[in-house]
Amino acid sequence: MTTVRHADVLLEKVPLERYVPPAKPSLLGLSRDDLADALAGIGVPEPQLKMRVQQLWHWLYVRGAADFDIMTSVSKELRQALAKSFTLMRPEIVAEQVSVDGTRKWLLQLPPEHLGETPHQVECVYIPETDRGTLCLSSQVGCTLTCTFCHTGTQRLVRNLTPGEIVGQIMIARDRLCDWNGGAADSPRLVSNIVMMGMGEPLYNFEAVRDALLIAADGDGLSISKRRITLSTSGVVPNIPRAGAELGVMLAVSLHAVYDGLRDRLVPLNRKYPIAELLEACRNYPGLSNARRITFEYVMLKGVNDSLADAKELVRLLKGIPAKINLIPFNPWPGTTYECSDWEQIEKFSEIIFNAGYASPVRTPRGRDILAACGQLKSETEKLSARERMALRAMAMTD
Ligand code: SAH
Ligand code: SF4
Repeated sequence: MTTVRHADVLLEKVPLERYVPPAKPSLLGLSRDDLADALAGIGVPEPQLKMRVQQLWHWLYVRGAADFDIMTSVSKELRQALAKSFTLMRPEIVAEQVSVDGTRKWLLQLPPEHLGETPHQVECVYIPETDRGTLCLSSQVGCTLTCTFCHTGTQRLVRNLTPGEIVGQIMIARDRLCDWNGGAADSPRLVSNIVMMGMGEPLYNFEAVRDALLIAADGDGLSISKRRITLSTSGVVPNIPRAGAELGVMLAVSLHAVYDGLRDRLVPLNRKYPIAELLEACRNYPGLSNARRITFEYVMLKGVNDSLADAKELVRLLKGIPAKINLIPFNPWPGTTYECSDWEQIEKFSEIIFNAGYASPVRTPRGRDILAACGQLKSETEKLSARERMALRAMAMTD
């Protein structure tokens, strides 16, 4: 009898096999090779393929074309043939909210797995700062993991996003912020940084996230440097070396506790991949250096993980790993029993880390009024009952 491995099977096999694509496939998110195959499939002759792929790539990812009609360097016949077989459709925006601090949140609608089912919803957040604009992308609808302090963790897992749906979030942000600049690939942009810190665990949708981020980083397209792309994981240890080798973006690790007992409770995936294994994978992360440090995220939970002894142990644990520690004030959400640590406690905690030689910025919560801050993302349509949550958590631990 086959053992059902919750995270792998539910996420990576079943939903994608059953996924019903839109009537016409979208060209967003295809690699150059797949784009060439798509063009060959509608009769573009082999000797023209490379040039046509280059043209399309430029229209899609430098100019932000949402319609084949504007592709004036492409012959009219080919534009018509493309429009007959493909779309350039982005995920549909169903709501846009702007916070008093300028943070924007888009609620996006994606096709369901089966015809006739309610469409899925996912969120994407833009955080403007003086020196950068960071876009926080989702990788899954919901999350199979059930970190107890995270709102997304209470949502029923629905499915993995496709590469096109991940790249589509960047394109929507550039559309809405008028951030396409008419041709020059390398001028400053409002969307300058990307973090995979929205809904979902990116390393449980590895291939799609990898393919999408390689398009985001492509110098002839969206052109966001790998140094400005950060992938955050709750600790899917086997995929950490792959992320380094196949993608090479910056890594952030959601640590949140320094003892296995507590981390088992906060981040239940810890029971599968405990702290020592996780830190070993971090030590061996390809390309790790002082210039390419790992960010350790640590959510500040009052009376739970915020003692000064915890801070000292954190410093001890990270010894020898080029690291930055990001202290995240807990963002409350309806129904949570956790509270954010007191400000003085966060400051004392941060001081210990700083004195040990680590940068320890406290992440300013952004967009709290529109529930856009870390861990607050959750589409209201996807509620889970307490019983279903417990079942999911139990399954996540089953090998
Ligand atoms: N699944 C990935 C990425 C998405 S979560 C991960 O867990 O790393 C992005 C960050 O927000 C993680 O560090 C997560 O632990 C943190 N987070 C989740 N819920 C939070 C909350 N309510 N308040 C503050 N940070 C939270
Ligand atoms: Fe999933 Fe990350 Fe939330 Fe944990 S913190 S439930 S891994 S989205």
